[in-house]
Amino acid sequence: MNVPSVFSLLKVGFGPSSSHTMGPFFAARDFRDLVASRGFAGGRLRVVLWGSLALTGRGHLTDAAVAAGLSGHDLDRDAATPLPEVLAAVRAAGEVGIGGGRFAFRPDEDIVFDASNRELLHPNTLRFELLDAEGHVLFAEEYRSLGGGAVAGGSFGAAPAEKGHFTMAAILGECRERRIDLAGFVRANERQLGLADAEVEARLATLWEAMRGSISRGFSTRGVLPGPLALARRAPGLYEALQEQDGTKKPLPGELDLASAYAIAVAEENAAGGRVVTAPTCGSAGVVPAVLRVLEEALALPDERIHDALLVAGLIGLAVATNASIAGAEVGCQGEVGTASAMAAAAACYLLGGDAEAQVDRAAETALEHYLGLTCDPVYGLVQIPCIERNAAAAVAALHAASLAVLCRGEDRISFDTAVAALAEIGRDMSPKYKETALGGLARLLGTNPGARLASPDDDTATLPRPAISSLAQPNGRRDEIENHGHEKGSGDRV
Ligand code: SF4
Repeated sequence: MNVPSVFSLLKVGFGPSSSHTMGPFFAARDFRDLVASRGFAGGRLRVVLWGSLALTGRGHLTDAAVAAGLSGHDLDRDAATPLPEVLAAVRAAGEVGIGGGRFAFRPDEDIVFDASNRELLHPNTLRFELLDAEGHVLFAEEYRSLGGGAVAGGSFGAAPAEKGHFTMAAILGECRERRIDLAGFVRANERQLGLADAEVEARLATLWEAMRGSISRGFSTRGVLPGPLALARRAPGLYEALQEQDGTKKPLPGELDLASAYAIAVAEENAAGGRVVTAPTCGSAGVVPAVLRVLEEALALPDERIHDALLVAGLIGLAVATNASIAGAEVGCQGEVGTASAMAAAAACYLLGGDAEAQVDRAAETALEHYLGLTCDPVYGLVQIPCIERNAAAAVAALHAASLAVLCRGEDRISFDTAVAALAEIGRDMSPKYKETALGGLARLLGTNPGARLASPDDDTATLPRPAISSLAQPNGRRDEIENHGHEKGSGDRV
């Protein structure tokens, strides 16, 4: 059985998107390293973004991410510098330094958002090129951003799914045989992959600390989120309202309200480009921390228990990433928020004392089953509407699924593996309009005319304006026009 490391899924990262911001950043860093290792001393760099990256890349800061990666931005050392500022600096310099050489790179011309219909191996594909003075390609690499910050291509090699699959059924069987629980299975797997126990503990502590930090910062930061929606942050006010409520006014048990508030705090941090943990992605990063924090407080759990629960959550996320996809651009939001809800449900069930086979698997399945078919239709290509509230809903759904799994007895008709297989099938059949392209659903209806959302359901929505994806405010103040059927004018043109 080939089970990847749980730390390939759970990673400290930055918003707003693991597939559109983190993945392209890592790809750019890799290309930079390859250029340096091959001894190139100069030339011009060019980046082509295809598929979903071309359609929603600006809202997701993909251009800033590749500029940061190519310029050698260090996530730890330069943590205080937001990506848009790095982009502005690269734009002003018109070049980046790699090794001892200087390479021309003007982001407005050299990052190409190519939304033309092109057969792609993956909807999040990007290509880096090094050109000589005549425009001939000296060196090039193509990458795929797989979701959750994972990348294939270049030094990263093949995608995990290309390396083999595993089933939860097989893992549960092994747990039974070896008399270990799911957290024990993951620890043993990490050991087998070469990670010492102390290193596993240290990484889990870092992840949990980062999750808690994203909740705290979400509650203490006020203001408006970046982007044309000018969405006010809600988490601080929500938390205050919860503190002020007296028992008689509470429509829901306090834990559910808290779970919503925690999830929104993290999702808003993510939308602002803040530090979050991919669980499994940035867009869905609020769900797992919210559920774990609620249970930590309600049950007075020590960190060690939360660490175990993180391993269980990570395993569930890996099962989806390996056997289906966690990329909204590939399978819609069922793969992101749906998976996050399943991860959180499994972790919660584990913490509530659920046994591996009958209950933890059931909790994950119950949560995922009800997110099957969930579309990805982010308004203006930002990770804000519907993403932020969706995190809150998924956290509450996860607690519900965990509770149901613990309470219900009897046999299950559907296993988690079956739900994952259904997710993959539905993802394959889903219209590209609903796969992180901002061409359908809420993204189209909310578009450039906010009043459109008030239209009667009987209206011919085809006549409603669709969002001007390329008219998002750009740092250089330009606003490009967009045609009404989904592709930017002159797709493939440099912008
Ligand atoms: S709708 Fe879901 S998949 Fe799409 S960007 Fe938002 S969180 Fe990610």
